[in-house]
Amino acid sequence: MERQSPITRMMAVGIAQRALDITREYVGVRQQFGKHLRNHQLVQQDLADIETAVISSRLMCLFALGCLDQGVRANGTSAMAKRFATTNALGAVDLAMQLHGAMGIAEEVGLDQLWRDVRVLQVPDGTVGILALIQGRELTGAAAFR
Ligand SMILES: Cc1cc2nc3c(=O)[nH]c(=O)nc-3n(C[C@H](O)[C@H](O)[C@H](O)COP(=O)(O)OP(=O)(O)OC[C@H]3O[C@@H](n4cnc5c(N)ncnc54)[C@H](O)[C@@H]3O)c2cc1C
Repeated sequence: MERQSPITRMMAVGIAQRALDITREYVGVRQQFGKHLRNHQLVQQDLADIETAVISSRLMCLFALGCLDQGVRANGTSAMAKRFATTNALGAVDLAMQLHGAMGIAEEVGLDQLWRDVRVLQVPDGTVGILALIQGRELTGAAAFR
């Protein structure tokens, strides 16, 4: 029997959290136009977007895991959480790279590896496309896979 669990996608949340931690440190060190990056308004907006992606993804995965713990059928909820966490974590790491400028693609910072690690999660254990179809099947009762 198919049983969706968002547990693997907690990896995506951890990766995005790491990207946030690295970026918070960097914007407090790097100076441009006479002040630290963290003092620029748009940098703060990007940081807020990254944190929002981390927290919302974590909460959605925990909600789906909570449903499973209670024995509630959660195939749609889990598929939703898996797709949401993976997609948002990828966006968060991408934004973190952007905030690092050219350093974002330098191997010594490590964000390039985080990007690869989170990107791969879009495929195994249900591609993001198939996860949307699983959620759609739970919503409609119709399997649109074929
Ligand atoms: C790191 C990693 C670990 C893996 N571990 C395992 C493992 O432990 N066990 C295991 O069995 N497999 C594993 N896989 C394989 C993984 O499950 C498959 O790669 C994945 O299911 C996609 O299958 P595919 O590569 O054949 O792509 P395809 O099935 O060819 O899909 C290609 C694209 O078409 C879309 N697509 C396919 N069918 C439909 C459809 N009916 N409707 C709409 N869109 C569709 C997909 O969403 C995808 O975007 C792993 C893959 C990776 C990358």
